[in-house]
Amino acid sequence: MKKLTFLLFLITYAVGAQQIDLSYYLPKDVTYNQSIPTPKSVIGHEVGEWHITHDKLVEYMKALAASSDRISIETRGTTYEGRPLLLLTITSPKNHQNLEAIRKQHIALSENPNMDVSNMPIVVNQGFSIHGNEPSGANAGLAVAYYLAAAQGKEIEAILDNTIILFDPSFNPDGLQRFAYWANTNKAKNINPDPNDREYSEVWPGGRTNHYWFDMNRDWLPVQLAESRARIETFHKWLPNILTDHHEMGTNSSFFFQPGIPSRTNPLTPQLNQDLTKEIGNYHAKAFDKLGSMYYSEESFDDFYYGKGSTFPDVNGSIGILFEQASSRGHAQESVNGILTFPFTIRNQFTAALSTLAAAQGMRVRILNYQKDFYKQAIKEGSKAKAIVFGDEKDAAKTYHLAEILKRQHIKFNEVKSDFTSNGKTYKKGYSYIIPMDQKNNRLVKAMFQKTTTFTDSLFYDISAWTFPLAFNLDYEEEVATSRIGAEVTNLTLPTGKVSKMSSYGYLMPWNEYYAPKALNMILERGIRAKVGMKQFINDNKSYDYGTIFIPVQNQSLNSLELFNFLQQVAKESYLDIFGTNTGLNIGPDLGSDNFSNIGTKKIAMLVGDGISSSDAGEIWHLFDQRFDIKVTKLDVSRLGRVNLSKYSTIIFPSGGGISKNGEEDLKEWVRNGGVLIGYRGAVRWLSSNKLMNLEYLSADSPKNPVTFENRGLQSGAQVIGGAIFNTKLDLSHPINFGYKNDELPMFRNTTTFIKPNSRNYNNPIQYTSSPLLAGYISKENLKVLSNSVPFQVQRSGRGRVIAFTDNTNFRAFWFGTNKLLMNAIFFGDKM
Ligand SMILES: [Zn+2]
Repeated sequence: MKKLTFLLFLITYAVGAQQIDLSYYLPKDVTYNQSIPTPKSVIGHEVGEWHITHDKLVEYMKALAASSDRISIETRGTTYEGRPLLLLTITSPKNHQNLEAIRKQHIALSENPNMDVSNMPIVVNQGFSIHGNEPSGANAGLAVAYYLAAAQGKEIEAILDNTIILFDPSFNPDGLQRFAYWANTNKAKNINPDPNDREYSEVWPGGRTNHYWFDMNRDWLPVQLAESRARIETFHKWLPNILTDHHEMGTNSSFFFQPGIPSRTNPLTPQLNQDLTKEIGNYHAKAFDKLGSMYYSEESFDDFYYGKGSTFPDVNGSIGILFEQASSRGHAQESVNGILTFPFTIRNQFTAALSTLAAAQGMRVRILNYQKDFYKQAIKEGSKAKAIVFGDEKDAAKTYHLAEILKRQHIKFNEVKSDFTSNGKTYKKGYSYIIPMDQKNNRLVKAMFQKTTTFTDSLFYDISAWTFPLAFNLDYEEEVATSRIGAEVTNLTLPTGKVSKMSSYGYLMPWNEYYAPKALNMILERGIRAKVGMKQFINDNKSYDYGTIFIPVQNQSLNSLELFNFLQQVAKESYLDIFGTNTGLNIGPDLGSDNFSNIGTKKIAMLVGDGISSSDAGEIWHLFDQRFDIKVTKLDVSRLGRVNLSKYSTIIFPSGGGISKNGEEDLKEWVRNGGVLIGYRGAVRWLSSNKLMNLEYLSADSPKNPVTFENRGLQSGAQVIGGAIFNTKLDLSHPINFGYKNDELPMFRNTTTFIKPNSRNYNNPIQYTSSPLLAGYISKENLKVLSNSVPFQVQRSGRGRVIAFTDNTNFRAFWFGTNKLLMNAIFFGDKM
């Protein structure tokens, strides 16, 4: 019987889906302009017949723009793989002629509370498939764009007259291309919906992410990736009233539209935002009822972390809306709801895109007024507020990078009027900036700087804290007097590095600056000998911290002039200062002392592939490649045991496993022979269970309160650390902490791996304080066991070292504050 049902499904599918054409998606009672090219006439196949590749998508969008006076097109930059980041602006030809004036008037709405909105168009930003392997969005975009260009009649004309549509057909071109390749390569002529077919399980790292394996739907607030920069620039240029973000979820689900779980809304988001979202939901419900498609709302996902596309707009007077369609993850797949075809998923996304435009039409004046009032309130709150100062007197580049985010988010900030010290921290001009809260974007500033530790809900879809000055490990202070505010920064630049003077003796490079590892790598790669100072010292009346790099002039492969010129280039490209000195005589150990230890050249490999967390690995790859210009070999974990490891000085094991017995033996021998193995998160348990390290773990008590069957998930969920920030105490003399100015360091944590401190106290150079919670959610049971535990351990094994970090020090490319820990493990790991 089961077999028969299956056969029937197949027949239905063959009849119902393989013969689909554009009319399957489009509203029936509409006529279409014949001079507008259909998708098939340009890309060579029907929408949903194959997975659209990004190059074909670009070709079609350009063809539409060329044939329709409703559409203009622009390229706002490129992805890491060089694909264009397109934006289509879709509105009536009349609005197009007036576009810049309409935009200016729209932006003025956020500054002038007296404007009348009754005749203003509403701005809707529609974006698709930020997760490349959730392709129904981008594929639906073909049909949506066709409809908007070709449909005729009063209904479409009213929409185009009253709406500016900012249409982003592919938020993630590199990921979309990667997934399309996979699904198309494995498609059979007779589509086989068996979930075990290769088509439905892509190879590592999958198409969800961008080139560096980042989840770009976490980057709307930190804006660290090329694709995000284009998106955020468009957002602030237009301040859209509605932003939609089309995703996919598990195959057995149906269709989700926001609002999400009400109790998990960020407190900075006004209630009216959620009420309007719910009202917009009625339009989706009506359209889906007509179609007969199943859907739900309010039971999953949330609007807490502002780094997500559907939540970021909510702190900017806009309304962000998440759509999640059950995924066919290929051309058709069996599900609990029958065979889920790719065209069916596309049609749902198409329908939601159109119901959004219908809602924008129906609610236009109220949504425009909501935005106006949002900023009116924000400006009122800001007028009474003071300022926030942040900086690091020894690290200008790290300070610059936080300021760069402010700039990308159109937040105004200023120089400090003059250097000042407050609460023991010094804020120097050029090494610090000050943000006046008296500005329209002050709620966005709060979203970046908030430090929440109490919550109405104990479950989170994503991280519960992201406080930027803590992530950057910068000194900062809120409630600073506005009299400290200097000139507004309009032209932000990275500091220019230099060598103080030419020397015939040696050069000293402080390790505090963010780009010091890049500089050291350039020096070592050039074959120049360098040493690291294991102690503090004073040379030529200047104080130097632990970890200062000493480059002697004598006996190098470059003569003294060549060395000076080369170091000038290093200083310039690494944005830091190098100091020439004419004496080796120090207060403290002299430059010829054994306390200056040779740094060997580094050859680094990182384990990647099946079993390894691609996001953790991608963040490390991005850090080395994009920030520090350091080569790292991406070594597939399946090749361990078959490759010669002896040429590597360092191997990084991002979270995960998947190492064979032979691989394990090779790794052990390589460490005994002097290799430095660095393990993160899930790798830590692997290291200790395979006897590469001897660690003792602590575990939290189970919560004791009674719980019902219905609420059983809430109790276990409350014991998850989704991502929060905790304070640690540092031993600054330990090489893992070289370059840190303060003896406290905020660390990001999203695991429940708790390591018991080593019995020898000097082996605990990073230790959680007795009340470590700085921001975010943690259960009281976990907090108790976390206090005084350690996130880092290093142990010897033969001539090598094994290093363990319980948590990710490179989180999402914006955790600048702990990046140096990995660099210290790389360059000084053999000295620990
Ligand atoms: Zn998604």
